[in-house]
Amino acid sequence: MQDSSRLIVIGIDVGGTQTRVAAVDRMGQILARCCHRTDEADGADRLIARLTSAVENILDEVGVGSSAHMRLGVALPGTLDQRRRLVVRSVNLPFLEGYPLIDELSRRAGHTAVLFTDAEAATWSEYVSCASRAGRFVHLRLGTGIACGVVVDGRLQRLDADRGQHLDALVVDSTPGARPCPCGRRGCLETIASGRALEERAREVGYTNGIASLQQAWERGDETAVDLIQKVTNALTAAVNNLATLFEPSVICLGGGVVTALPCLLDQTMARLQAVRDENGEAPMSVQPARLGDDAGVIGAAMLAIDPQ
Ligand SMILES: [Zn+2]
Repeated sequence: MQDSSRLIVIGIDVGGTQTRVAAVDRMGQILARCCHRTDEADGADRLIARLTSAVENILDEVGVGSSAHMRLGVALPGTLDQRRRLVVRSVNLPFLEGYPLIDELSRRAGHTAVLFTDAEAATWSEYVSCASRAGRFVHLRLGTGIACGVVVDGRLQRLDADRGQHLDALVVDSTPGARPCPCGRRGCLETIASGRALEERAREVGYTNGIASLQQAWERGDETAVDLIQKVTNALTAAVNNLATLFEPSVICLGGGVVTALPCLLDQTMARLQAVRDENGEAPMSVQPARLGDDAGVIGAAMLAIDPQ
């Protein structure tokens, strides 16, 4: 048994691009970490071997003996079946669909693994790190894909249970030309503002470095970049307004790699939201950028492993 004042948990965040493993204390501080690329070609078996060895190395680094029994909080993008402890559907990690990752990882690592969606994990860590601990808190995450999480009265809401599609609130284009979303619908925010969609769109309009070129191009007033950011801003503003109507949150937190890479998108969206509310005579809504960046998932997975809600 661990001394509870020094409770250490392992967080694992298997993303579409990067896999992060970290030892986290009960305050959500990272004590040791490692990161590697998620390689679909490796397959599930190799992924588990990598995770098992990363966990061993990290426990070594923080001085936890190999006989200690740990909890591993695992965050994954997709739809989960908690009863069967597996991923039913994942656009970003199709090779894990139906694979008993949690049972296999628990068996091979010799620790107890618990499963969460990446949206749940990131939402929980951002909520806990939010100074005001809002009564209702909505986290919209623009990563490789789009994810959304909600906390009400200090409890994480399980939005993704049995869902294969995005929330209705995240459908922002209902025109006939709306692009198909991997979730099966058309016009989801995913098709416009996800990292995957934006990379594709940026390349289509001539930015060979994709999203990486967009912020600078926008700063120098390049018309193509300004147009593209404008379209994404419109879509994001609509999604945030829909979420505000649906959940009446006191704080909406915007996070994910797209927000980090494109500060112009966050600024424009916040300005637009304020303008719309001023026009309608509504009270200002607190829209905050996420605080934890790429660590939100791994910290949240660890913290949920301590308190699974
Ligand atoms: Zn969708």
